[in-house]
Amino acid sequence: MKPMNTSDLSHRPPSTVHRRIVALAGGVGGAKLAHGLAQILAPEELTIIVNTGDDFEHLGMYICPDLDTVCYTLGGLANPETGWGRVNETWNAIANVERLGGPAWFRLGDQDIATHLERTRRLKEGQPLSQITKDFCKAWGIQHTILPMSDSPVRTMVDSDEGELAFQEYFVHRQCAPKVRGFRFDGVEGAESVVGAKEAIDAADAIVICPSNPWVSVDPILKVIKKIARPVVAVSPIIGGKAVKGPAAKMYTELGIEPSALAVANHYRNILAGFVLDNADLSMENDVKKLNIETLVTDTFMNNFTDRIRLAEDVLHFIGSL
Ligand code: GDP
Repeated sequence: MKPMNTSDLSHRPPSTVHRRIVALAGGVGGAKLAHGLAQILAPEELTIIVNTGDDFEHLGMYICPDLDTVCYTLGGLANPETGWGRVNETWNAIANVERLGGPAWFRLGDQDIATHLERTRRLKEGQPLSQITKDFCKAWGIQHTILPMSDSPVRTMVDSDEGELAFQEYFVHRQCAPKVRGFRFDGVEGAESVVGAKEAIDAADAIVICPSNPWVSVDPILKVIKKIARPVVAVSPIIGGKAVKGPAAKMYTELGIEPSALAVANHYRNILAGFVLDNADLSMENDVKKLNIETLVTDTFMNNFTDRIRLAEDVLHFIGSL
C-alpha cells in the first residue's frame, strides 16, 4: 500500500456530492472506505458506527481493535503496511512482556498501548466508551463522528469444531484455523446503541455497509441497531470469490455457502436497497438484481488513498441515483 501523508489531503476532490451518510464499519476494510468517505463528506455529513464485538481484555487493558483501526486510519496515524496499528510504531513493551514469559500473541505496539492504557483507566472510572472515543478523536484531530456500536460489552463468540472460542482467541491466537460453525454475540440482547447513533441513522440519506466481514464485523452492529428505516447500500468485501484479507471467504465455505459477492448480497438481502460489487464479479450482477436490489459494478479494491476516495465517490453517486 502506498504510504500516506497529510499532503495527500491536498488532492481532495471537489465536494460535489452532499449527503448525510452513516457508515457501518469493522476494522481494516471498513476503515478504508470510511476514510474515503471522510475525504468527500463534511464532518456533519458522516457518522461512522464501528463494531465492538471483537473488543477484549488482555494484559489488563481494554482493547478495541476495530474502533482503533478506524480512528487511527481517519487520524492519519495508521500503519499503511498492515492497515491496523500505528505508523512508526515500536514494540519494546510487548518484547519485554515476552521476555518475561508473558503472552505476546496479540501484537501491541508502544504507541497503541498508550491508547489502551488511557482508555482502560477512564473505563475504570466509569466513563462510557463513546465519550472516551469522542475525546480521543478530538485529541487525534479527527473531525468526523466515530461511534462505538454500544457502550455495553458485546462479545463475538465463534462456535468452531474445537468448541466455542472468544473472537481474538480464534482470530489472532489460532489464526482462524478452527472451522467455524456459527457465531454468538454475547450481551447483544441487552446492548443499546450509543447516544447519537439512532439520531444519525434517522437523519441519514443512506446507510453504507462498508466492505467488512459480514459475519463478525457487520452482523453485530446490525443486531445492536436492530431497525434501519433508511436506504442501505453495501459494498462487497468478497472479490472474485475471495476475501481481500481475513477469514470472510473461509467462513462462508465452512458454513456451507459458496463465498461470492452474491452470497454477501444474499446475507444482507432483507435490508439492502443497493449493492456494490467488483468488476471481477460482473457476471453476478443480474442475480443480485433478481433479489430486487439495485447494483453498481465498479473497482472495489482499495489499494491506496486515491482508490478509497474513488470508491467513496462511486458509492455516493450510486446512492444519489437510487
Ligand atoms: P477486520 O476487522 O480488520 O478483519 O476488518 P473488516 O471486517 O473491516 O474487513 C475485513 C474484510 O474487508 C475482508 O472480508 C476483506 O475482504 C475486506 N476488504 C479489505 N480490503 C478491501 C478492499 O480494498 N476492497 C474490498 N471490496 N474489500 C476489502
